[in-house]
Amino acid sequence: MTLLDRARQLEDQDPVKTRRDQFHIPQRKDGGDMVYFCGNSLGLMPKAVFVDVQAELEDWRDLAVDGHHHARRPWYPYHESFRESGARLVGARPGEVVFMNTLTANLHFLMASFYRPKGRKTRILSDAPTFPSDIYALQAQIRWHNGDVNRDMLVLEPKEDRHCLETQDIVASIEEHHSELAMVMLAGVNFFTGQAYDLAAISAACAAHDVPFGVDLAHAAGNIDLNLHDDGVDFAAWCSYKYINCGPGAVGGAFVHERHATNEDLVRLAGWWGNDPATRFQMDEMTDFVPHPGAEGWQVSNPPILSMAPLHASLAIFDEVGISSLRERSKRMTGFLEECISAIGEDHYSIITPADEDSRGAQISIKVHGSAQELREFLQATGIVTDFRPPDVIRIAPTPLYNTYEEIARFSQVLGEQVGATN
Ligand SMILES: *Cc1c(COP(=O)(O)O)cnc(C)c1O
Repeated sequence: MTLLDRARQLEDQDPVKTRRDQFHIPQRKDGGDMVYFCGNSLGLMPKAVFVDVQAELEDWRDLAVDGHHHARRPWYPYHESFRESGARLVGARPGEVVFMNTLTANLHFLMASFYRPKGRKTRILSDAPTFPSDIYALQAQIRWHNGDVNRDMLVLEPKEDRHCLETQDIVASIEEHHSELAMVMLAGVNFFTGQAYDLAAISAACAAHDVPFGVDLAHAAGNIDLNLHDDGVDFAAWCSYKYINCGPGAVGGAFVHERHATNEDLVRLAGWWGNDPATRFQMDEMTDFVPHPGAEGWQVSNPPILSMAPLHASLAIFDEVGISSLRERSKRMTGFLEECISAIGEDHYSIITPADEDSRGAQISIKVHGSAQELREFLQATGIVTDFRPPDVIRIAPTPLYNTYEEIARFSQVLGEQVGATN
């Protein structure tokens, strides 16, 4: 059986069907679909988004200020329509999730409440490699509190000759340093290696020592089946333009665990939209901020309707499939990709993503022993979109909603041919 036949058979046999026809697939110049393995960076556009955004433009045109209450989807309570679907997506309870702002902005708003260095407890434990925006944000928080970046950043690096961290090493580090830790902030899925961390185990270690645990879910939300509530994570933030397919700069999401829902000792960098709606408009001169219970209490401004509209179409697709079914298809597809790359041999590429399917999402990162940049360009010229992370890594993300097994087979053939050509 050829690789392509095998891919078609896997597709036919997979009980979780592709939703490819609900997405716009970018086209090659000579016609035909591109093979798009870059959903970890910018997800493809659900077709229904056009209609939803246009509806908001029409309602704004026709209703102006009356749209706040009389638009087809009224703007005043707009964010509330994602309470249930947003919670389902990340394994949370309704009230623990809100869509607002963008990822790094949300990290700052949440750290304003949860990173409260005091006495000896001033340090932040994080994982390497760290995404630049997260490094800047963590350093800025430390400086904002007049801390010392060299002392207060505790970045956990993989052991020598390893690419990924071990859960036991993360937990051991929390045990060792807890008396100095003011916060632990990790990725849910590491952007570079694709490693998914054991959030339940890390969360338990943090809780045992009363250290707030925050997670950056940029590469995890819409990718793996998270259980933020049961795992006991304190807070989390993510963007919606990667696996959640809501378009460039889309509105991000935030999670705050229910146990903090009404804790008024947590200072919120408040704005009117985080206030209890009943008194939001009170014009008394010295009105005290009354936080809305739950994650919505961290909102600052009124929702950006045009940017939020794509969430309707996107979350509807996730609900239709169910994140746990989707994750099953994803594991099978990523497993097939890993198998195909491994068959080419380790002389030219080594896989740095964990082999255990529970410790990774829809991504295989390969270390290229030749020029990764050239390989990326070669793939691009054949209509295959991947992404290059300096110095030598290519990330390939087969996203289960719109990628197919056949695309994985075609990619592997091209990769194999490239090896043949450079031998
Ligand atoms: C994509 C990504 C970001 C992007 O931040 P924005 O605020 O959305 O621009 C931040 N952190 C990580 C880990 C990411 O993967």
